[in-house]
Amino acid sequence: MAQPHTDTASIPATVARARAAFNAGTTKPLAWREQQLRALIALLRDNERELQAALSADLSKPAAEAFITEIGFTISNTTHTLKHLRSWLKPKTVRASTMLLPARAWTMLEPLGTTLIISPWNYPVQLALEPLAGAIAAGNAAVLKPSEIAPATSETITRLIRSYLDPDAIQVVEGGVPETTALLAERFDHIFYTGNGTVGRIVARAAAENLTPTTLELGGKSPAYIDDTASLAEVARRLAWGKFTNAGQTCVAPDYVLTLPHLVEPLVAELRDAIHEQLGPDPQSSSSYGRIINTRQFDRLASLIAGAEPTRGNDAGRETDTARDTDSATRVRRPAAHAASTDDRSPASPASPASPASPASNGRIAIGGSHDRDARYVAPTVLVDVPRDAEIMQEEIFGPILPIIEVADARDATEFIRSGDKPLALYVFTNDDSVRREFLRNTSSGGVGINVPVAQLSTPALPFGGVGESGMGSYHGEQSVRTFSHQRSVLSKPLRPDTMGMVYAPVTPRALRLIKRFMG
Ligand code: NAD
Repeated sequence: MAQPHTDTASIPATVARARAAFNAGTTKPLAWREQQLRALIALLRDNERELQAALSADLSKPAAEAFITEIGFTISNTTHTLKHLRSWLKPKTVRASTMLLPARAWTMLEPLGTTLIISPWNYPVQLALEPLAGAIAAGNAAVLKPSEIAPATSETITRLIRSYLDPDAIQVVEGGVPETTALLAERFDHIFYTGNGTVGRIVARAAAENLTPTTLELGGKSPAYIDDTASLAEVARRLAWGKFTNAGQTCVAPDYVLTLPHLVEPLVAELRDAIHEQLGPDPQSSSSYGRIINTRQFDRLASLIAGAEPTRGNDAGRETDTARDTDSATRVRRPAAHAASTDDRSPASPASPASPASPASNGRIAIGGSHDRDARYVAPTVLVDVPRDAEIMQEEIFGPILPIIEVADARDATEFIRSGDKPLALYVFTNDDSVRREFLRNTSSGGVGINVPVAQLSTPALPFGGVGESGMGSYHGEQSVRTFSHQRSVLSKPLRPDTMGMVYAPVTPRALRLIKRFMG
């Protein structure tokens, strides 16, 4: 499908239209916000099939997965927002300083104005509409830029937004680099960007020109630590689900596993069973398994697999896809230096064609490894004997490849994690409280999942966002409203009695003694 785009010459007028709606006061009343949020829920409910079809065209996303992780997810969070919005918006009274009494003080949330939301391709419905719901709930006008890398979804949500939501206050601009560059040349009151850190920096630089606040929802390498107090069968089921949903193209998917040497073999056996249970003997023919977004990303992942040694003996693919894996790992096609690409953009995102990894630098294939370029299929793959400095440990994997790294203990694991960037998510599978404490005290990450990956996102009361390289700012539920609002402080003091007289010059010695009593 051709990449959709909006004429760049029309972009200033589009932004001006949204701004005019904000300036006219359209978006501020609670009634408008609630009506738009209800319309957003209707958009998702009425068009569930159409949205599923678009997600299937872009990512071969299975219908159930599309509902759970995108459509249903956004309906449920928007419903939660609708239910609580009135109370979230109530001004919050705080105690005025004693010296200022009599006085009242409070904070109130006010909308920021005209906001820009730039979204990525991996969850192209959720990551466009969930921030949009936050912008609306906070009373803003918004311009949404869906990802051109998921063109069917971009086209569908653009059409649906235009027919369901306020045609002035809510605008959509389709396209890629030229269109986003034109948008970033405009002045906004907040920019909410989800995607890779390279583009995150471009967004932050453009925002700095106008001192525009930004939320950057980025990615990174999210580790999962497993110790021997955790039941490996359950751990493997949860890990397989968290890693292989959306074929591993999930920002909070466990990127790699850290575990004790004696657990590697039993963990691999349990992972093999879990993959078999969830995706059947041949994941390529499973209707529950998605595909890689495009050949450029496929080639990058194939290159990482090519850097691992093929399966040895019968310790891999036992019941799953032994024959195909063993044979395909030896016939891995290394990508051409400039692989055919549907998102051949500059500057490069982390999807830039990786140089082929040097042989064996990515350990050994224990499960999977097969792939099919025409079908953009990469088998659920597990790598063992992976050195800490392997090629695959350098950047976010963002695909269905799970390297297992051996560590001596929890302390060794936290030290390894701390030697890299702060991840978006961190997972600890253990029943040992002291191990949980070790991770909570000695690491930093956007969020933490204890004994479960990815699910931290589906609790709207938990703010979702990164720290350091994994991003800045957060959203979901009430936090979305706070992100898209300015917290305004108000102090109100009656003119009489004029207790301010104490600080007017000249301050008398008696007044100063009194002030010192208050101020310490
Ligand atoms: P992408 O390629 O869709 O890019 C994201 C957006 O940036 C798109 O709308 C795109 O048009 C725009 N863009 C791309 N190049 C640009 C440029 N040069 N100038 C201006 N705009 C540009 O998505 P992606 O970046 O490949 O997404 C994958 C990354 O996003 C991963 O690192 C992943 O971890 C991260 N991610 C984070 C979250 C989160 O919530 N923290 C969610 C999903 C993905």
